[in-house]
Amino acid sequence: MIKYGKEPQLNISKPELVFLDREPTEEIKEKIFKHDNYTCQCCGKAINPKIKKERKQLQIDHIVPYKFGGDSSEKNLQTLCVTCNGYKNIHEINFRVTKTPLTSSKELNLFLIDKHDKEDLISWKMINLKRVINFFYHSKAVLSLNLAGRSKQVWEVELYQGNNPQWLENEKSKLLHYIKEELQHPKLEQLIIK
Ligand SMILES: [Zn+2]
Repeated sequence: MIKYGKEPQLNISKPELVFLDREPTEEIKEKIFKHDNYTCQCCGKAINPKIKKERKQLQIDHIVPYKFGGDSSEKNLQTLCVTCNGYKNIHEINFRVTKTPLTSSKELNLFLIDKHDKEDLISWKMINLKRVINFFYHSKAVLSLNLAGRSKQVWEVELYQGNNPQWLENEKSKLLHYIKEELQHPKLEQLIIK
C-alpha cells in the first residue's frame, strides 16, 4: 500500500457554493408544493397535505435534471407525483409550460400508467390519460378533460393553444385502445380532440 502522507494544506478560501446541493432544502420544497397547490403539474393528481401518507405521493422534480446542470433554484423545480417523476426520469420537461416545445410529434407512450392507485376510478382514468397526453406534448398541454354521457361514453380532450391537436388525432386508434383496455373503459364510443 502506497502512502502519500498528509495532504498539503492550502490556504485558499472556498468560493460560496450556492447550488451545490442536489436536494433543495425542506423549506424550498414546501414552498414549491404550496405554489403548485399540492398537485402534480403533469397529471393533475392532488393530495391533502395534512395527510402524511399522501404527502409521500408528491415529489420535487428538477425540470432540467441535476445531471445535466440543472440547479436547485426555485425556477427549476416543479411538483410531480411519484409516477410522473419516475417516467420523466432524466428528460427535460417543464410541465408548467402549456405550449409544446416540440417541433414534431413523437410516438405516444402508452406505458405511462399508475396501476396502484385506483381508489376513485373515474379520476384515476382522467389522471392517467392526462399524463399520457402531457408526456406526448412534453408540456402541460391538456386544458381540460370532460367525460360525458350516462356511462361516460364520450370523452373530450381540450388542448391549450399552441399544441397541434392533429398530432393526437394521428394517434387516435392507440389512444382509444389505451382508454378501453388499459384504463378499463370499454364503454368509450367517442373521443373528441380539440
Ligand atoms: Zn403525476
